[in-house]
Amino acid sequence: MQRLTEQFIDNHWIPSRGKRSLAVTDPYRQCRIAEVTTGAPADVDAAVAAARRALPDWQALGGSHRADYLEAFAEALVERREALMRLSATNNGKALAEAGIDLDDAIACYRYYAGQARALEARQGRRVEHAMDGVEAHVYEDPAGVVGLITPWNFPLVTSAWKLAPALAAGCTVVFKPSEVTPLPEQAVAEIALEIGLPAGVLNLVHGDGEGIGAPLTAHPGVDKLSFTGSNAVGEKVMRAAAEGVRGVSLELGGKSPILVLDDAEVEAAADWVMAGIYFNSGQICSATSRLIVHESLAEPLYAALASRIDALRLGDPLADDTDMGPMTSARQRAAVEGYLAIAAEEGLTAVRDARHREPPARGEFVAPTLYRDVPVDSRLWREEIFGPVLCARSVASEDEAIALANDSAFGLAATVIAGDAERARRVGRALRAGSVWVNGEQLVLPEAGWGGFGISGIGRELGPWGLAGYLEVKHLIGPAD
Ligand code: NAD
Repeated sequence: MQRLTEQFIDNHWIPSRGKRSLAVTDPYRQCRIAEVTTGAPADVDAAVAAARRALPDWQALGGSHRADYLEAFAEALVERREALMRLSATNNGKALAEAGIDLDDAIACYRYYAGQARALEARQGRRVEHAMDGVEAHVYEDPAGVVGLITPWNFPLVTSAWKLAPALAAGCTVVFKPSEVTPLPEQAVAEIALEIGLPAGVLNLVHGDGEGIGAPLTAHPGVDKLSFTGSNAVGEKVMRAAAEGVRGVSLELGGKSPILVLDDAEVEAAADWVMAGIYFNSGQICSATSRLIVHESLAEPLYAALASRIDALRLGDPLADDTDMGPMTSARQRAAVEGYLAIAAEEGLTAVRDARHREPPARGEFVAPTLYRDVPVDSRLWREEIFGPVLCARSVASEDEAIALANDSAFGLAATVIAGDAERARRVGRALRAGSVWVNGEQLVLPEAGWGGFGISGIGRELGPWGLAGYLEVKHLIGPAD
């Protein structure tokens, strides 16, 4: 069994100053595959100090040299793609094909921010157009400083790429705390940093859980900015910590995203997109379209089409080529989802499909893909993020009702609109309160397009130029024209 007993600080693997050991599991085989010795607050101190020392030179290096490292990062991921896919599938429980999508996403992200780093250098010091005679103004974008990055377990290597790549492109130096649930794939980030010769202290990685390492990192006065992806409950704690010392914070939090099927939609295509929106990664996606809002004229055929697709989903070993859906990533997450299924039973919700319709595999932390229909709008299942393969559906009588119901949520991360008329789908999409709206299609993620939410789904945006802007401070030099 693998033992991770060191933290990556200042380009050295340093024996952990912490004493606690956390089990890392394979949720399909339900066994322990590694142990991680958590860091201690002293490791956070050392990592922040290393990042601080590295900051001036990393900034001075300039965007185009930093871009070379980001390209090298992408290449190193390409070389390790197969191995990391298997590691992700084993540690996270995601089907191998889905792990491949993750790797490609991460690789594209490092490449994209290499381009952004070069573009950043090219625009430094550009003239600001203004109306005052005899005055010249120039604008620079400087790194925000030492940043603390904290990620969840559902997309290891992806959520970290979305932070590490723009932070490094911007010229920030980093202390990264991956999720304690999926430390194995994330360990590659530090190994790659060493392999490609990233300057010492630019990227530091400290393993541990939220209370042991996350909280000390967010409270550390040497951290200039925090970027967090995870649950709302913890996001609020991170924001409170950032308030001490008035430090910047970006939050990528939860969702309860709608998928609208309008009355002119084609049912079979709609069923495919509904399936992909909720059962991908066993529903453990922040952007899962977990509220299905369907026009009443299509409700019955759509539920029937979904039922036959759910029956056809192959649940099993994430490493097997013929598996569509793996287990929940942890026994803890399975229990959390099962808690919602118990509430559904108490509320008397009508299941089109649930565990009674199929036996989940004998081993593994599985939750059967579930679909409830006619879910009341005040049900906790309609309103709260479940983070599992549980779809809640309601029918509506009109487009206006569909839009109003879709927007009736405190979250606002994502949405999908399916309609026969693409123009109509886009118009409805414009009326939705969500950071990403997919129109007649699956959940495509482009490194060039922003990612983030309205409302309680977060603060700020990742990806695209907005992702880079989150790690930059804007500076103007203003004075008499020469
Ligand atoms: P979580 O909030 O429990 O943990 C996320 C990270 O925060 C982990 O690394 C954890 O160790 C750390 N943490 C826990 N307590 C902390 C504390 N007090 N201080 C600092 N750090 C602490 O979330 P999770 O269960 O790992 O992930 C699932 C959640 O993540 C879901 O709500 C999901 O919607 C969200 N998510 C959002 C996005 C997005 O882009 N918006 C993407 C992926 C996941």
